[in-house]
Amino acid sequence: MQRTSILETKDLVGQEVTLCGWIHNRRDHGKLIFIDLRDRSGIVQIVFTPKGAGYDLANQLRSEWVVCIKGKVNPRPEKMFNDEIPTGRIEIEPTDLEVFNKSETPPFPIDTDGYEIGEESRMKYRYVDLRRQRLAKNLAIRHTMAMFIRNWLSDKGFLEVETPILTKSTPEGARDFVVPSRLYPGQFFALPQSPQQYKQLLMVAGVEKYFQLARCFRDEDTRGDRQPEFTQLDMEMSFVEREDVMQLNEGLLIEMVQKIYPQKRIQKIPFPRISYKEAMEKYQTDRPDMRNDNPLADGDLNLLAFCWVVDFPFFEKTQEGGFTFTHNPFSAPKPEDMENLMNKKNIAGILTTQYDIVLNGWEIGGGSIRNHQSEALEKVFEIMGFEKERIEQNFGHMLTAFKNGAPPHGGIAWGFDRLIALLNNEPNIREVMAFPKTGDARDLMMKSPSELEEKQLKELHLKTVK
Ligand code: ASP
Repeated sequence: MQRTSILETKDLVGQEVTLCGWIHNRRDHGKLIFIDLRDRSGIVQIVFTPKGAGYDLANQLRSEWVVCIKGKVNPRPEKMFNDEIPTGRIEIEPTDLEVFNKSETPPFPIDTDGYEIGEESRMKYRYVDLRRQRLAKNLAIRHTMAMFIRNWLSDKGFLEVETPILTKSTPEGARDFVVPSRLYPGQFFALPQSPQQYKQLLMVAGVEKYFQLARCFRDEDTRGDRQPEFTQLDMEMSFVEREDVMQLNEGLLIEMVQKIYPQKRIQKIPFPRISYKEAMEKYQTDRPDMRNDNPLADGDLNLLAFCWVVDFPFFEKTQEGGFTFTHNPFSAPKPEDMENLMNKKNIAGILTTQYDIVLNGWEIGGGSIRNHQSEALEKVFEIMGFEKERIEQNFGHMLTAFKNGAPPHGGIAWGFDRLIALLNNEPNIREVMAFPKTGDARDLMMKSPSELEEKQLKELHLKTVK
């Protein structure tokens, strides 16, 4: 089919075109039928006249029917210009109309921004919801950002490497989603909370510069706008220090914003850095919103205040009186605190190499330099009170890997959905994901989660208890 995209029609006055898309709306004016036809590129007006082609069929058209219209691009009379849309100075005189598919009455309007519609309905009919301009734009800009990041990192010598989705359950902070093994009764895979261990193993493998737009899974109680699965821009590098990772990421963020969001202004370059201690004292949070320091920032939707937070304590006390990690068990302490880690001395005072990147009061990423020597990593688990056996069971593979030529390395991960939501002034990450779960962690469109058939349960050696 020689199809023309709707946006192109604005430059094709006098020509015959074939347009395919959805009926955005229909207005009848006396005997004339005006159709707004929509495809991904935009909207154009079609005018059916009683004597022209397709008039009787046009009378039956309803919103969201899918059609093909052949016609001639005519200039509009000047007094009919509509400069609110790019095709507002032309209209189409149809020569043929074919209906590809009818549609039920749409469950909700799609010519609004959609915030006014209940989430249940939007998620159940997400494929209709995604047709609205705001969401179509969010998907497109998400793609643009992903492409920018991929090209930018690729130019700097990074390889995108896919890591497994079926992996191993390890105590890493959040609860794991698990997948029962059919072949090994009573055994389970886990979905990755992040590719943390695999990316470190890629460093042992000599990849040196890794990134991935990686899906992460965390079975946490949904609160606020958390999602059970989300996307990270995940990175890891060998032979680097904290400064290298921070510089690289700052450069990427600045260039990406300047290229893709030229209307935005970054409050301060280089990004301010603040220690955890100072942040807590001055802002009572480790995610300070630095816009508050700027008297001109009031209500400015286009102001971006990035900052780095560093020098976090490595460990915090648990309720049981032991210690657990604050961020990431694989982090190295600050070099000056390594001796205390190895001797398990002044544990509460040990600082980690962790760096968090914060934007307008939201944590959008974090990472660290890692412990690449197995003895140091082992000490972390000992401080957390893990027995030798448990360390071996959960993390033996990492300790072994580190005894097989592990380079010094470090990395970071960005919350990709969160960053896109912030840059597009969206209230939550569901607005920038194609098929998110609802706030209470269900997929209303697919009706998931759902029960399994008895036969499947049996194959998986599972019994459910209600
Ligand atoms: N894996 C860490 C996380 O998901 C990020 C990192 O340290 O690279 O938070």
